[in-house]
Amino acid sequence: MEATSAVDEQVDDRGSPVHGTPEMIPAVGDVINEQEGMEVALKLAQQALTVGEVPVGCIFVHEGKIIASGRNTVNETRNATRHAEINCIDDVLKWCKVNNKEPSSVFANTEVFVTVEPCIMCAGALHKLHLKQITYGCHNDRFGGCGTVLDAGILADNPCKIIAGVKADEAMQLLKTFYKGTNPNAPVPNVKKKAVSKNDTSSLSS
Ligand SMILES: [Zn+2]
Repeated sequence: MEATSAVDEQVDDRGSPVHGTPEMIPAVGDVINEQEGMEVALKLAQQALTVGEVPVGCIFVHEGKIIASGRNTVNETRNATRHAEINCIDDVLKWCKVNNKEPSSVFANTEVFVTVEPCIMCAGALHKLHLKQITYGCHNDRFGGCGTVLDAGILADNPCKIIAGVKADEAMQLLKTFYKGTNPNAPVPNVKKKAVSKNDTSSLSS
């Protein structure tokens, strides 16, 4: 059976058309370096966008290899806790079982790349599991658990190292695309001009 795609022809980061399979996202088992981590997470976020989920992508990298990759599946599962990070945590536990590894030692040597600052729930979970490092893209002004709203690390006995702002613009652009119409940074339609004169620092979530 011929595989066809309803999406328009895609282009890669350099603007060149991508032929063949529509998605070439590195997967579990693939070797990856520090620079590539966020690229992969962004592709997963893009994938989330195309299926109507909040565009957040995430990978967990252990000893240079991806051991979990995920995105939000909140709408698909109708479960508000199915954030990309939580989905990845579940997959790491499965990976540990299959590979006969001790989860605590795996988490302690695993880096997380996620396109948006983890929310308070996810940040709390990541600190609790003692991940080696969390690298995220844009800030999460509404729910950020790495300091923007609350620093969940202050509740942890051994907080994860956090790196913020990696490819933040790309991550934010995906959110803006998803939330277009409710994005406070978007141009304000003339009919609403009177209603938006006060300071509005709320962010992109709805
Ligand atoms: Zn979350």
